[in-house]
Amino acid sequence: MYFHDAETLERSALEKLQAERLKKTIELAANSPYYSEVFKNNKIDPSIIETVDDVKKLPFTTKEDLRSQYPYGLLTQSLDNFVRLHASSGTTGTPTAVFYTQKDLDTWADLMARSMYAVGLRKSDVLQNMSGYGLFTGGLGIHYGSERLGCLTVPAGAGNTKRQIKLIRDFNVTALHIIPSFALYFAAKVRAEGFDPADMPWKIALIGAEPHTEHARKKIEEMLHIKAYNSYGLSEMNGPGVAFECTQQSGMHIWEDSFIAEIIDPETGDPVEDGEIGELVMTTITREGMPIIRYRTRDLTRFIPGQCKCGRTSRRIDRIMGRADDMLILKGVNIYPMQIEKIIMGIPEVGQNYVIELIKEGLVDQIRVKVEIKEEFFVEDMRALQGLQKMIAGKLRDEILVTPRVELVQHNSIPKSEGKAKRVIDLRETED
Ligand code: ADP
Ligand code: ZN
Repeated sequence: MYFHDAETLERSALEKLQAERLKKTIELAANSPYYSEVFKNNKIDPSIIETVDDVKKLPFTTKEDLRSQYPYGLLTQSLDNFVRLHASSGTTGTPTAVFYTQKDLDTWADLMARSMYAVGLRKSDVLQNMSGYGLFTGGLGIHYGSERLGCLTVPAGAGNTKRQIKLIRDFNVTALHIIPSFALYFAAKVRAEGFDPADMPWKIALIGAEPHTEHARKKIEEMLHIKAYNSYGLSEMNGPGVAFECTQQSGMHIWEDSFIAEIIDPETGDPVEDGEIGELVMTTITREGMPIIRYRTRDLTRFIPGQCKCGRTSRRIDRIMGRADDMLILKGVNIYPMQIEKIIMGIPEVGQNYVIELIKEGLVDQIRVKVEIKEEFFVEDMRALQGLQKMIAGKLRDEILVTPRVELVQHNSIPKSEGKAKRVIDLRETED
């Protein structure tokens, strides 16, 4: 383990540490314009915290709160103590900005290094960071973590597949950081360039930043001949390095000595039963410049009961099912995009990409799933294609309980974004 003591703390010792750090966080947060006001209105001071469970006495912080305080409302110190800012990619609206002191950057790099160590990376590894740099935390966040671990780090950035392949071959890259929706596209491209992924030097991929299913992971592993590990983070909680798989690949360890995690019912705000799915809520307890308390991530997951075989004692979360905002309601049934991905990525004829379109049929909402089919299956035989289409629609109906429209499209015909994939497109206004 990278930090043996911190990663193997007994539960009681960990919770004691969390309570101490939470108390300290409240003291610090009270120096920010936003929390000083919130604390005054809710009569909150550090003395109300005795155990980590007392975190429930604190109010939630939402994305809207962060937006309303943009840019400086949550800062606990004067601006000259800060050395970096990042902003969320704005997938769901106006971005939010996060500021870091040098100490915050150090803490983050340590969390990242620990995460990478957990999946087997060592200082002898060469890591190519294929995510966009700039404001997106997947660039510099992974970069500094990799350097902290001592890996030779190749800041390739996103896009330009040919050049990526050249760098990988020239510098014997053993690890990739790559967005899952791009990984499948990349694998196909590597083959198209005449290389066999099995002959490439890589062995480990860190994949994250967007929801993906176990099937998609398996597909990435097979197509790239690589071991792929799930990486979870969000800019409000630094960025990547919040929760990470270990070599067991059985859920992501949340680094609980830096974050207090809760899972709540998104409607009521109450904690869900242990092991039930709900919204992840997180509190920073080692950040000094911009602490955030009980942040509503909108991400849906569950705690995985029991201990991990690796010996780390922090709890694990299941892969993210999606964002609460991504839920579609069709004929009264709740549907998550990942339910759809789970089915289609398990069908051998399906290629790398898909998109879910929300459409109107007469007066009712309907979804149309456009699925790319592998070149070898996209034959002229209409009957075979119709059979495939029906089969996919049937399997989807079994999973989501309503029958969606299914459209089979040619390999590489769905536009591929360089950043996070947009899986759901609402066409209800534009199509009549
Ligand atoms: P944005 O909300 O604009 O995308 P971020 O770049 O901060 O901003 O992205 C954080 C979000 O990305 C998370 O809240 C989550 O929805 C998603 N995400 C990050 N890592 C994963 C992962 N491993 N699995 C699923 N979703 C993830
Ligand atoms: Zn583990």
